[in-house]
Amino acid sequence: MTVPSSMPEAVPPATEAGCAGVREPGGPLRSHDHAFSLAAGHATAAPLLDGLLRLVAAHFGVAAACVVPGEAPAERGLGAGVDETLHEALRALAHGCGAGAAREPLIVPDISADPAWRNVLAHASKPLRFVAAWPLYGAQGEHVGSLCLIDPSPRELDAAGRASLGDFARVVAALATHRDRAVSTADEPTLHAELEALRERERLLAHAIAGSGTGIWDRDVATGEIRYSVGWKAILGYADHELTSRIEDSYLRLHPEDRDYVKAAMQAHFEGRTPTYEVEHRIRCKDGRYKWICSRGKVMSRDAHGRALRMIGTTTDISSMREMAERLRESAALITNLTNEVPGLVFQRRQLAGGRAFFSYASAGIAEIYELTPEQAAHDTACIDALIHPDDLDAWRASFEHSAANLTPWHLEFRVQLPQQGLRWRQGDARPQRLADGTTVWHGFITDVTERKRIEAELQEFASTDGLTRLANRRHFMARVEAQLAHVRHGGTGAAVMMCDLDHFKSINDRWGHAIGDEVLRHFAEILRTQLRAGDMAGRIGGEEFAILLAAADLEGAQSVAQRIQERFAAHPLGVEGDVVALTVSIGITLMSAADVSAEAALTRSDFALYRAKKGGRNRIECA
Ligand code: GH3
Ligand code: MG
Ligand code: MG
Repeated sequence: MTVPSSMPEAVPPATEAGCAGVREPGGPLRSHDHAFSLAAGHATAAPLLDGLLRLVAAHFGVAAACVVPGEAPAERGLGAGVDETLHEALRALAHGCGAGAAREPLIVPDISADPAWRNVLAHASKPLRFVAAWPLYGAQGEHVGSLCLIDPSPRELDAAGRASLGDFARVVAALATHRDRAVSTADEPTLHAELEALRERERLLAHAIAGSGTGIWDRDVATGEIRYSVGWKAILGYADHELTSRIEDSYLRLHPEDRDYVKAAMQAHFEGRTPTYEVEHRIRCKDGRYKWICSRGKVMSRDAHGRALRMIGTTTDISSMREMAERLRESAALITNLTNEVPGLVFQRRQLAGGRAFFSYASAGIAEIYELTPEQAAHDTACIDALIHPDDLDAWRASFEHSAANLTPWHLEFRVQLPQQGLRWRQGDARPQRLADGTTVWHGFITDVTERKRIEAELQEFASTDGLTRLANRRHFMARVEAQLAHVRHGGTGAAVMMCDLDHFKSINDRWGHAIGDEVLRHFAEILRTQLRAGDMAGRIGGEEFAILLAAADLEGAQSVAQRIQERFAAHPLGVEGDVVALTVSIGITLMSAADVSAEAALTRSDFALYRAKKGGRNRIECA
């Protein structure tokens, strides 16, 4: 890797012609690199080509890069007398690279997994897993050999790597050809220009890595040495000349709480249990503060026993990302806390274009509102539909349909029948939105309104009921007659209105006292209640005046009801202190007519009939 680093820039001294192993930063070539030193001691060593091959090997991070000649005899190119078997294998491979007219590059990521090449290299005396060979051409386009990359570990070469190998091959071809001929003065500037272009690419790559806030490290596992790029040191606030290269020191910079799992992750990769090493942890900076970083790496070479020899990796500063993630977590927690503390259920309900509805969010209040968990409602709303009071289910469904169709706010008061709480009232409010895919999303809340509904019902009763007799009061009774009139006007069945007035009530009050008078009023109300059918209604519309609405009744039917009331009233006098209060009532009846201009008109008519009953001697029934 030639990256913005403290690794020495100087090219190591030429070792062998035509082949170069990767030299560890600042160190000598290691034994495993020598395993691939095909051309040791070659007499025609060209320092420029050797340097270039070392640069190529370092660029790709492979054990060695070498030139394998084409059809020409072996002595023209590589390694007479050295590792003949590997040499021959590579020659076979390089010939395979582009057999026939079109010479194609050859990349074998893992020789041991590739039956075509496994045999060719079976006899090689050194471990070899990866081979890449790129055809080299002379000035006249003739095939002169291959530029080979070899490594004892399997590896891949991506599109960018292949492009680089092609670039290198052109430069190597030019250099190798010049080695054998007189260097053309015309070609030299081209060669330099190409080398300069390569260096420029390296510089650009270095800048790109530095600009991304990423640092690079290169660890020699055997010696315990680790080299850091300038960018790596900058992440921790160190200058290039600072920091030791001992791996033990690097572990001291780890946050104590993270040390164990970082080491475990590293060990797992060393042992080949993980394809790469990747871990997020805290690391101490120069100023003593800790930073969150993400470290990724990969063992680049192993010995014959699979032991890691060299590992290269990157380090990215993820402090700000972690901070942002933490802030996000905090605001998500705040929203969750808020929604969970608000009484009732805060929800997000989704209805897909296909019709399926579910709660994509439900606060903890769903336990109280529906006696369910958020998970139960997350799939579909059938479990909620099952809790809605059967009388409210249609309204419940229609309300969502209406809200979705018109995108109008959803509002509904409805009853639920819950396993623990029994019958309860709920009120829901939400606003719908339509998404691009046709989904409707409501955000809203549902609260318990059982107590409010109870009070409302009480108030309603209070406002519509006569306190003494518990019958409908005048206002409520008149409203009911008004509704009945509308029904009659629309061709509904006929209805009768009766007016009842207790006879000589004043004298009852006078004789027995006002309290007994009240008792008589309650007594009469009770008789009305027992005599009327479910659809009928009695109301107290004055002191001792009562009115009755008989729904679906003709005159004859109304008369018989009036008679029953009269008889029952007379037959059941009120007993007071061993005495009885004799009671009679006069009744006037009329039928409601579609021509009646108002409820009052019908009542006035029955009042007129009542007047005639009084006039006729009381305890009578008259019709009008
Ligand atoms: P009539 O047979 O002509 O109907 O004679 P009446 O005495 O029943 O009629 P009148 O209108 O002269 O008297 C009605 C009485 O009802 C007068 C009033 O004091 C009494 N009254 C009205 N409201 C109440 C009440 O709430 N309780 C009691 N105890 N008496 C009431
Ligand atoms: Mg009266
Ligand atoms: Mg009276």
